[in-house]
Amino acid sequence: MAQSHPNLWCTAGVHPDERRDDREASVEELVRLASHPKVVAIGEIGIDYYWVKEEDKRLFQRQILKQQLAFAESVNKPVVIHMREENDAWSGNASTDLLEILREWRDTLKTDDHPLAEKPGVLHSFNGNLETAQQAIAMNFCIGVTGPVTYKNAEEKRRIIRQLPLERLLIETDAPFLTPVPHRGKRNEPAFVAYIADKIAEIHMTTREQVAEITTRNAARLFGWGG
Ligand SMILES: [Zn+2]
Repeated sequence: MAQSHPNLWCTAGVHPDERRDDREASVEELVRLASHPKVVAIGEIGIDYYWVKEEDKRLFQRQILKQQLAFAESVNKPVVIHMREENDAWSGNASTDLLEILREWRDTLKTDDHPLAEKPGVLHSFNGNLETAQQAIAMNFCIGVTGPVTYKNAEEKRRIIRQLPLERLLIETDAPFLTPVPHRGKRNEPAFVAYIADKIAEIHMTTREQVAEITTRNAARLFGWGG
């Protein structure tokens, strides 16, 4: 699809909750895919302790994450990070383990004076706490905001986003899930980013246009499209 549509791009990566046993093979496949010019990032990669509970499998997740971070460095493409805690908590072992691995990677990038040190990637569909967000931002990561920011009971999420600079936010849908209000309960689709932009504008006391302009620029810079 990305190859046949000029305004579509994609990512390639081995997702942490992929339940296949041949993930080593998927990493080889990834190496092949990632050289395609329409593949703008390595992802989703990361830590998922919601679906994966066994310690040996969690260890394998961390290994495959580190392997893919090193790979992203070698092909100079940013990463799209998935992070989900056990029981969907705001913080816990997933955040701790992820930040530790990212910090190690960031140190390598800095030592190597690698361009990814300036724009390493995004914590997509972010559901962590303020501290995790701030630590990721300190490492130059962006934070991906999805539909739940529009939900009635999401005051804490809005409180977190209010404290993050617009220059570090990306808007996304994570379609077909996490449909924003007023379409909650129906299938999500990319056009609904507008509702998320509206909510961020409200939180940051600015306009939809301003949010659109800044987040569009953030995405273009991170993924290297549109100048
Ligand atoms: Zn994800």
